[in-house]
Amino acid sequence: MSASIISIADHHPHDSIAELLRNQQVQRAFDFIDSSASRFTSEHIRICEIPAPPFKEQERGRYLASRFAELGLSDVHTDSEGNVIGFYRGQSDAPLLVLSAHMDTVFPDDTDVTVRRVGSCLCAPGIADDTAGLAALTGLVQAMNAAPITLRGTIALIATVGEEGEGNLRGVRHLFSEGRLVGRVSAFISFDGSGVNYITNQALGSRRYRVTLEGPGGHSWGDFGVVNPVHALGRAIARMAAYRAPVDPRTTYNIGRIEGGESVNVIPQMASMDVDLRSASETELAKLEEFLLAAINRALEDENALRASSGQKLKSEVKLIGNRPSGETPRAAAIVRAAIEASRTLGINPVLNRASTDSNIPISLGIPAVTIGVGGVSGDSHRLTEWYDPAGRELGYKRALLLALAIVGVV
Ligand SMILES: [Zn+2]
Repeated sequence: MSASIISIADHHPHDSIAELLRNQQVQRAFDFIDSSASRFTSEHIRICEIPAPPFKEQERGRYLASRFAELGLSDVHTDSEGNVIGFYRGQSDAPLLVLSAHMDTVFPDDTDVTVRRVGSCLCAPGIADDTAGLAALTGLVQAMNAAPITLRGTIALIATVGEEGEGNLRGVRHLFSEGRLVGRVSAFISFDGSGVNYITNQALGSRRYRVTLEGPGGHSWGDFGVVNPVHALGRAIARMAAYRAPVDPRTTYNIGRIEGGESVNVIPQMASMDVDLRSASETELAKLEEFLLAAINRALEDENALRASSGQKLKSEVKLIGNRPSGETPRAAAIVRAAIEASRTLGINPVLNRASTDSNIPISLGIPAVTIGVGGVSGDSHRLTEWYDPAGRELGYKRALLLALAIVGVV
């Protein structure tokens, strides 16, 4: 049989998924998945125990590159940003589907990442987010090898860097702006975390700012009248906090950190804040951002005007520390329909949702993309007590495989 993005777009996806289920290569891959639980779990533990703090994913990257090569992927390499890439080649280079998972965790350098087993659970920081996704990449390659599955198009398996926090999607951003794959990717699937219910087809956009105000400082009594950065920051915060964000499209803001000043009787030299702005709509996000920048300007002007007699003015630095575009892969897109159909076929009740993931970048570029969980159950994400239970993982792997094959096509 053959299936491709075009045939799914033209026909009801159920036909393709149903055809895949009858395909003997797929059945052999499913058998491999069903009989490989302990193999998948060992790999999962192995990956998790290699630390991958923000901006320090190299060691985990080296391991994954060696695994990709061992598993027979072609052209395995690490790009200049640190993404590890390998290809499961089919008869053609198109369609080219990316299957990705992120290597970075939110945990700092000295975090103990030893995996403890408690009953059927695996406990360690990062065990689900996103070691589960990385383990699924290698697991699916093994399942395709075991069948073996001959693809019509090609799958690029990619372990990305910098998905979390200040990583600001730097890995996937590089893939779509400078890497060798620019302009060649037909569809993108990110494996992120556990579960099977959510299909993230909507990208939650955000902008993050660090605002720093500076003045000459002085003595609270002797130098009274000098511009005060804490006062100005307070004015900006008050303006921002009064912003009426729409409920629909959901739009939010948060001043999550403030800092500044030396002592109670000292006019501060510096004050700063970190601001997080988010919206389901790029237009609302732009409005919110404009409001923040205006609030800061206005606060500075007011403080400078009030203390004009001092002859001093505040200086400001407004630094963009995070920028994630929003957008949506339409529900009618072949990749979303195939994800829904693959889920239902396996008895999963899919829910479309919005989140901030590696898919934000391709979605914003109009490349069909979704983020899905790879099965199993987890909790305490981004906490030291994070846990993962592989129960039901085979369902996640099979769903991911069906979706990938529906897009790339089996010969
Ligand atoms: Zn994640």
